[in-house]
Amino acid sequence: MSDNYMQIRIKADMKNESFIRSVVGAFCVGLNPTLEEINDIKTAVSEAVTNSIVHGYEGGEGDIWIDAEISGSTVRLLIADNGIGIEDIPAAMQPFYTTKADQDRSGMGFTVMQAFMDELTVTPNEPRGLKVEMKKTFRGA
Ligand code: ATP
Ligand code: MG
Repeated sequence: MSDNYMQIRIKADMKNESFIRSVVGAFCVGLNPTLEEINDIKTAVSEAVTNSIVHGYEGGEGDIWIDAEISGSTVRLLIADNGIGIEDIPAAMQPFYTTKADQDRSGMGFTVMQAFMDELTVTPNEPRGLKVEMKKTFRGA
C-alpha cells in the first residue's frame, strides 16, 4: 500500500530534465530527507531521464514516463521510455560502458544511479524501450 504516488508523462526533451528532477525532489520532501538524500534522488533521476532522451530517442521525438510512489520512508521510482532499448543490459550497466563516447559521455550514468539509490533494476519496456526502477529509503537527519 502506498502513502502517496504520482505519474508524469512528458516530452523527451532536455528542456524538461531539470523540471523532472525538481518535481521528484519536491515530491519526496514530505519524507523529511536530508539534503544529501534529496540530492542523491535528483541526481539518479537526472541520469535516467537524460539516458532516455540521449540514448533511447537519440534526441528525437518521444515520451518519458515517471512514476513515483512513497510507502513509509521509502520511495520507488520508475523512469520508462519507448526508445531503442538496450540489447545487453548487464553489459551497458558496467562502469565506463558507453555507446556515445564521441559525444563526451563517460559511461557512468548507471553507476551513479546504483551508488545513490538502494536498489536499481533495469529491464526492457513493453513494447519497446527501457524501464529503470529505483528504490531508496530515507534515513533522515
Ligand atoms: P554518462 O551517463 O556518463 O553521460 P552514458 O549515458 O553513455 O554516459 P550510462 O548512463 O551508464 O552511460 O549508460 C550506458 C549505456 O547504456 C549508454 O551509452 C547507452 O548505450 C545505454 N543506455 C542507457 N540508457 C538507455 C536508454 N534509456 N535507452 C537506450 N539505451 C540506453
Ligand atoms: Mg547516461
